[in-house]
Amino acid sequence: MAPRCWRWWNWAVWPRTLSPPARSTWSSCRHFSAQETPQICVVGSGPAGFYTAQHLLKHPQAHVDIYEKQLVPFGLVRFGVAPDHPEVKNVINTFTQTAHSERCAFWGNVVVGRDVTVPELREAYHAVVLSYGAEDHRALGIPGEELPGVYSARAFVGWYNGLPENRELAPDLSCDTAVILGQGNVALDVARILLSPLEHLEDLLLCQKTDITEAALRELRRSRVKTVWIVGRRGPLQVAFTIKELREMIQLPGTRPVLDPADFLGLQDRIKEVPRPRKRLTELLLRTATEKPGAEEAARQASAPRAWGLRFFRSPQQVLPSPDGQRAAGIRLAVTRLEGVGETTRAVPTGDVEDLPCGLVLSSVGYKSRSIDPSVPFDPKLGVIPNLEGRVVDVPGLYCSGWVKRGPTGVIATTMTDSFLTSQELLKDLQAGLLPAGPRPGFAAIQALLSSRGVRPVSFSDWEKVDAEEVSRGQGSGKPREKLVNPRDVVRLLGH
Ligand code: FAD
Ligand code: NAP
Repeated sequence: MAPRCWRWWNWAVWPRTLSPPARSTWSSCRHFSAQETPQICVVGSGPAGFYTAQHLLKHPQAHVDIYEKQLVPFGLVRFGVAPDHPEVKNVINTFTQTAHSERCAFWGNVVVGRDVTVPELREAYHAVVLSYGAEDHRALGIPGEELPGVYSARAFVGWYNGLPENRELAPDLSCDTAVILGQGNVALDVARILLSPLEHLEDLLLCQKTDITEAALRELRRSRVKTVWIVGRRGPLQVAFTIKELREMIQLPGTRPVLDPADFLGLQDRIKEVPRPRKRLTELLLRTATEKPGAEEAARQASAPRAWGLRFFRSPQQVLPSPDGQRAAGIRLAVTRLEGVGETTRAVPTGDVEDLPCGLVLSSVGYKSRSIDPSVPFDPKLGVIPNLEGRVVDVPGLYCSGWVKRGPTGVIATTMTDSFLTSQELLKDLQAGLLPAGPRPGFAAIQALLSSRGVRPVSFSDWEKVDAEEVSRGQGSGKPREKLVNPRDVVRLLGH
């Protein structure tokens, strides 16, 4: 009988760029002995990459290399999580512990799919886990989307968080009104950063509670934005943001919420049927929209110079140009009504439209993964790598975790659970003898390839030098760190 591993390996889908390995290579397919080192690599150093590595290291011999395209680690924890949420970034301490394991290495500045291919990684390692997240934004696909004054929330977030490719975005904040399309937590992050009064930002600086970049802070200090509309194509029962983030928005100093009680008619009865977290969220929305605030809160709201509001049942149809056609001057929204029940409720246009004047449009309708290597199956519609419990369909030895595995939703804790599950399955396959046995060169082979291609990886101790420099630069301005946003400065610091 053929060894079990023959059934697992599907020769029909062996990457075309590689000649199939001689069968003798795999004839040694068997359980790893206690002395052998399973060489595993992970692509991406966000929460998925680090949590996957953390769990894989439970195997007493496994060695894990983490490849990252940026010069610095941690993915969206550094470049996505809002700068005024420092407590969320504490997960970096756990990731740092993982990186300090002598059986783990971090290699930044390596773009998988460009500097090294996935088949090359698969040849060098016993198993490869793709954890490269969702780097693109979902486009709206409406006329005018390309006009100056329209930005993806992804780029805007990248700008205030110092993502190198967005560091020169310099969004024009000279208008009075901004519209954010989409009602998820990213939309609320963006609204909060846009509307935070200067004194609030200064307070955060005083308490070392924000690592927003200096360039973003400069622009926000000059910002004239007074009103932010957060627009959803469905209703209050379908918002994608969560209660903690809504509460933070309601309590944001110097701002007042603007909700139309008409949007909430009949909701009181319907919320009895919905699950508890959604019920509590809707109750908070309902109270904010319909109840008169107490005297103190009413006074606070009356003196607030800035406002934010939720607009429901409005789907973006066109970005309206200014009279000279040079920039965005508004957004045309299709009025919608809901069809269907429960999770499948859909927004359908009623035929009416509404024009909302604004000088800034931020599209926050979600992130999107891309395919990074033609040898890896990819579902462009769902934007995920097709997989069964993290095993990439039809490609033995290849796994995925995080947003590229399940799509661009879920918080860090969800990503952790999901990454642990993938690593559990990988370790099960290893235990069952389903991965190729025999030694694998791991990083030694990849280092030679990278060196021949003029790519110089950045190690975790290199990152620690960058980290120390950022922390020291931040001290002057009362920040936990001042990020080095220009890759040239990082390279100069490291003497590469
Ligand atoms: P990522 O964090 O995106 O990591 C992917 C990594 O892969 C990146 O470092 C990327 O550079 C790297 N990579 C990409 N392509 C390649 C390649 N070709 N080669 C090598 N490396 C590559 N969750 C919370 O719990 N709290 C929050 O406050 C919170 N705020 C958020 C704010 C924003 C704006 C966003 C978008 C998300 C937020 N989340 C938050 C969700 C959380 O960030 C995600 O759940 C999590 O980051 C997903 O992890 P990931 O590793 O799959 O993706
Ligand atoms: P999201 O939660 O999926 O929200 C996307 C929003 O865009 C939804 O309101 C959605 O409406 C809308 N949308 C999608 N396509 C649209 C279209 N074509 N036209 C109009 N509206 C459209 O995505 P996200 O805000 O990018 O957040 C991603 C994940 O990160 C989420 O899980 C989020 O919780 C997490 N995150 C967490 C935090 C935090 O914990 N503080 C902060 C930021 C992000 P429909 O529902 O109608 O599709």
